Amino acid sequence: MRGATSQCVLLGSLACGLWLALLLAYLLRNLGTEQLAGEDPGTVWLLGDRRPAPHPAAWLPAPQERFGRPREEEELDEERLEMSPGNKRILYVPSDLNDEALTFGFNVTKSRVLGDEREVSDTRNEMCRKKRYPYHLPMASVVICFHNEELHALLRTVSSVIARTPAHLLEEIILVDDYSDLNDLKEELGHRLEKFWREVKFIRNKRREGLIRSRMIGASSASGDVLVFLDSHCEVNQVWLEPLLDAIAKDPQMVVCPLIDVIDSVTLQLRPSPLVRGAFNWHLQFQWDHVFSYEIEGPEGPTTLIRSPAMAGGIFAINRRYFSDIGQYDRGMDLWGGENVELSLRVWMCGGRLYVVPCSRVGHIAKQPVQYKQALLQAMDRNTVRLVHVWLDGHKEQFFRRRPDLKSIAYGNVTERFELRRQLGCRSFQWYLDTVYPELESLMLS
Ligand code: UDP
Ligand code: MN
Repeated sequence: MRGATSQCVLLGSLACGLWLALLLAYLLRNLGTEQLAGEDPGTVWLLGDRRPAPHPAAWLPAPQERFGRPREEEELDEERLEMSPGNKRILYVPSDLNDEALTFGFNVTKSRVLGDEREVSDTRNEMCRKKRYPYHLPMASVVICFHNEELHALLRTVSSVIARTPAHLLEEIILVDDYSDLNDLKEELGHRLEKFWREVKFIRNKRREGLIRSRMIGASSASGDVLVFLDSHCEVNQVWLEPLLDAIAKDPQMVVCPLIDVIDSVTLQLRPSPLVRGAFNWHLQFQWDHVFSYEIEGPEGPTTLIRSPAMAGGIFAINRRYFSDIGQYDRGMDLWGGENVELSLRVWMCGGRLYVVPCSRVGHIAKQPVQYKQALLQAMDRNTVRLVHVWLDGHKEQFFRRRPDLKSIAYGNVTERFELRRQLGCRSFQWYLDTVYPELESLMLS
């Protein structure tokens, strides 16, 4: 009898368990589709890059793009992969992707709904929130260059700076319109900026200059002690500027980057990034890299400034005079790309320092670069070749072995940049490898 009862109980519980498991599976499946359905299917689109990520950690925010986050391989739909010839970037282009999203690189519908201003969650570490900075710090000129940026993303960038920067530290915001042709960015933008007339200076380029020269145009009309460069689709977080200014006040040859949080290109939600440093591979492509745990074991813990071999490029702060002293940017570089690695090498090799400041957080829309035009790809390649010739010394071959197609392309005249290197008395690339970024040598055979 006892045996029969326990058999009944056992069978009953097994049946119950089975039903529960089935119910759970059904619920999970539905939840998944509901979430997707809520994400505006017209603009749900993904990008991937099939080059293996240099580090397996999925949390690294941007191995391939300057900021974008790679998707898992299996999320890609093979039929929709396209190869762009220049840099083998593989793009995922759903057929129902709307044209606007293709133009801007993110979910435009969502951006319009969010509007010109919003609150964002404080992504800083607890220890950062307890930190105090001197009241008197150098003043900042924030330079934001844009070319055909989505209006609301641009306005959120400006309004986030105004809302979250103490007025006594903000000399000005300099907007440089790099010859945009979108209607929204003409009169409409002018009207929307009227309320910020005290803070915002507006420059419109008379021809397309590209990001690199536009930044120099912005910098030349700045009067703050420190230049802070931002992309035109950012949202700065609480107390973002003080830690950057504080580091530069202590050492004017210090170039500093905030920790860049990811604003998802589809949902536009802010995703906090882990502590990372900037680096690059032998293709001279920027990538995020792990921070060694011993670097944050000191008393400052996760608030410690992190030595960084390279910067992502879009967002950083630099003493204005120092920016001029070390030769700004290479004027011979076009449009966009390569300038971040060039400046990083120049800073390190010519006596400066480059650090990530983890208590300064800036959100950046990790755009999907689905519409890289041929001209942009060519500019990136040409810019990179310029920097290879000026800065890589005997290690040039490491680059050309991987990009034999670039060995004989025309890259213009680099005499002035060589002369700058001589005048500044810069160290060798071997010194940089030995002292700043020894991990690159281990990638020598890859
Ligand atoms: N930009 C510009 N002129 C150009 C190309 C880009 O002013 O010819 C601006 C662009 O609007 C953005 C910034 O430069 O504010 C960086 O470009 P993007 O965000 O496309 O680069 P990513 O963040 O993908 O590295
Ligand atoms: Mn950007």
